[in-house]
Amino acid sequence: MIAGTLFIVAAPSGAGKTTLVGRLMAEDPHVQHSISYTTRAPRAGEQNGREYHFIDVQQFLAMRERGEFAEWAEVHDNFYGTSRVWLEQRMKEGCDMLLEIDWQGAQQMRRQLPEAVSIFILPPSIAELERRLRKRGSDSEDVIARRVAGALGEMRHVHEFDFVIINNDLDVALGELKAAVRASRLRFARQRARHPDVFRFLDQD
Ligand code: 5GP
Repeated sequence: MIAGTLFIVAAPSGAGKTTLVGRLMAEDPHVQHSISYTTRAPRAGEQNGREYHFIDVQQFLAMRERGEFAEWAEVHDNFYGTSRVWLEQRMKEGCDMLLEIDWQGAQQMRRQLPEAVSIFILPPSIAELERRLRKRGSDSEDVIARRVAGALGEMRHVHEFDFVIINNDLDVALGELKAAVRASRLRFARQRARHPDVFRFLDQD
């Protein structure tokens, strides 16, 4: 029995996922963030091995061929994947792991680990999502329209997730994210794996 809990967090871009997850990590040292592999170019301020492992398409395909990804997906013309060995190792050690992945990766992980806890972060409205995407910078109308369409595509999968957090107010949403994490840790199977001494009475006749 794996002692760690796997949290899957998905959201359309503009929902505030990265900020929320960053704050959760800062406040909850028991949750570790998985660092994905990606073929997209690093953005300003991103560091190899911190936000992502940045690799080229050839390297990605070779890793995929060798079965090194627990899940992978193509998102906005780039490949993204989660290292299987690293994830399994950390979870065996009892770490709670958090994956920030898209709905395709979430489906793959759920199939392998049905007890994974999945959380979807929604913006309060499409209008607000559009406003946040516009605020990001000097993207053309065309790029914004594509991002909104992509966001809608991601949000159509919200019903597949265990928890939904509507990020209207950041502090409220953070409180809800922490509550979902804490509640998940109290599920029977998790508690039994973590505290075998307490549950020993169940094994007696
Ligand atoms: P970004 O390039 O903006 O960091 O991420 C783009 C999208 O890729 C986000 O929806 C993010 O959740 C998703 N993503 C990041 N890493 C992974 C991964 O390892 N697997 C999958 N399936 N999606 C990922």
